[in-house]
Amino acid sequence: MIIDSHAHLNDERLLPIAGEIVAGFKANNIESCIIAGFDYKSSLLGVELAEKYSQYALIGTHPEEIKEVTNVILGKYKELAKSSRVVGIGEIGLDYYYEDNPPKEEQIEAFEKQIMLADELKLPIALHVRDAYGDCLSVLKNMHAHLNSGILLHCYSGSKEMIREFNAFDCYYALGGAITFKNAKKDEVIKEIPINRLLVETDCPYLTPHPHRGETNEPKYINLTVEKIAAVLEKEKEEIIDITNKNTKTLFFKIRG
Ligand SMILES: [Zn+2]
Repeated sequence: MIIDSHAHLNDERLLPIAGEIVAGFKANNIESCIIAGFDYKSSLLGVELAEKYSQYALIGTHPEEIKEVTNVILGKYKELAKSSRVVGIGEIGLDYYYEDNPPKEEQIEAFEKQIMLADELKLPIALHVRDAYGDCLSVLKNMHAHLNSGILLHCYSGSKEMIREFNAFDCYYALGGAITFKNAKKDEVIKEIPINRLLVETDCPYLTPHPHRGETNEPKYINLTVEKIAAVLEKEKEEIIDITNKNTKTLFFKIRG
């Protein structure tokens, strides 16, 4: 069955229906989901949901929210990571898309601090990178000694050429609904990702796959993303499900079981 490797059931739009969503997993061929945090509050909520509904959680602060990343918050994340439901630090990274995002230097500093935290906790990292793949590579190069538990590029939106650079760090890549968009032109990127490093995700409530664009995204729509990958790679849907399920477990569930 499918594992949704990045879902925001902790988002205010999905929170009221989180129980219903999880109850519908089996009917939609979904095994489980990993609830991603984007700041301390949503991380805490994600862990609570993961515990309540037997799912998994990532904890961390998104690059747009890094003003909160102090030693106090990092200490709180350490406490939160004691939950057996926490499988990684995320989503963390760099986002240069909006002009009023925090300055690059501050983003890089908070990113590096959270990489150190992940290393200390021996947890993999899930990266949000938007218009910043070059700087992300520089950070990974500088922090190489602290990258010991696995790296996922969530919702990979970089080029085919960049994949070769990230492969040097043994990165995993998660694809979401954006690959189904009519103007996506992502086939070459999908083919370039090493098959044993490929994961799937929804990033719900965002990035709803075609033909449901405009609706709130939910984990059930991950089937459309899996079908798109299967079509591009000329494989059976079941094969893509088996491979991405195994890859997700290798990256995130190897320590916690
Ligand atoms: Zn996300």
